[in-house]
Amino acid sequence: MKIQFETERLIIRPLVPDDAEAAFRWCGDPKVNTYMIYPLYHRAEDVRTWLEGRNPDDPDNYDEGIVLKSTGELIGSGGMAYHPDRNAWEIGYNIRADQWGNGYVVEYLRALLEQIRKVRPVEAIDGIFAEENYKSRRVMEKLGMAWVRDTSFDKLDGSQTFRAKYFRRNLEQPAGQCGVCDRIEKTRKGNNPYFVRETETGYVVLGDHQRFEGYTLLLCKEHATELNQLTPAFRDAFLRDMAVTAEAVQNVFHPDKLNYELLGAGKGRHMHWHIFPRRQGDTEKPGPVWLEKDMNDDRYLPSTEKLEEMKKALGSELDRLLPRNK
Ligand SMILES: [Zn+2]
Repeated sequence: MKIQFETERLIIRPLVPDDAEAAFRWCGDPKVNTYMIYPLYHRAEDVRTWLEGRNPDDPDNYDEGIVLKSTGELIGSGGMAYHPDRNAWEIGYNIRADQWGNGYVVEYLRALLEQIRKVRPVEAIDGIFAEENYKSRRVMEKLGMAWVRDTSFDKLDGSQTFRAKYFRRNLEQPAGQCGVCDRIEKTRKGNNPYFVRETETGYVVLGDHQRFEGYTLLLCKEHATELNQLTPAFRDAFLRDMAVTAEAVQNVFHPDKLNYELLGAGKGRHMHWHIFPRRQGDTEKPGPVWLEKDMNDDRYLPSTEKLEEMKKALGSELDRLLPRNK
């Protein structure tokens, strides 16, 4: 997609066929190409053919030219491509080898993300890079991305397979996009009457309707849909926080059994644990709580006094249990 803007040191502008000579300085450089998916270019004419064949208006692909303000030279290209399966932008770039190490990619991609999130508020930025490519790792870390899992990729011509790393940053959603992000924002500002306690990875809140007394939620601090979108360390801590929250609910509300459910596809796709205390005979037939049509009936909204009492009891039990489970 054509986009044009300036950063402190760079001018970002669409690539045109006449950029072929300048682009050949990185497209034809084996050093730059080492970990790239595309084969090395051997002639500037082939770069021109590539540039002529691109669709510069593709809304799913921002692949722009990076120009140095100080000299006016085109020193690289890159940007972000949209992946609908992950609702994420995946980053990619090439920079002329003599311009490495100056932080240009990070400066560009930070600004690009800001620009294009206004157009499409995606949920994450992703990046895949060859394991040995420590420079790309630095770029992704500076963009706030972190390792989620190992993977691999092949060069397009099949000549090489690289062991690779998959990095990701889940993005907090702008106001109005995600019900859970909105509620977390409200909680942070001290405007959520159901808020009980913050944990390392989430926020413990009581359910609005207490049809099942002690109904509690743990809202994940990261805007993510699935556990596999979290770094393993955060994922494990999130699961631990859920288990401890459930234990506190059990100790305070004394159910016969707890139900645990990780949902997250309402307004926004944001994981949150539902913890339901269940009691013998609490539904007409044994079954999931969601079958109860009256679950969100206003008569199950707790009074202010009751809510305060429940929050206090659950909060102090969490204060007791959480430090023991680090
Ligand atoms: Zn969210």
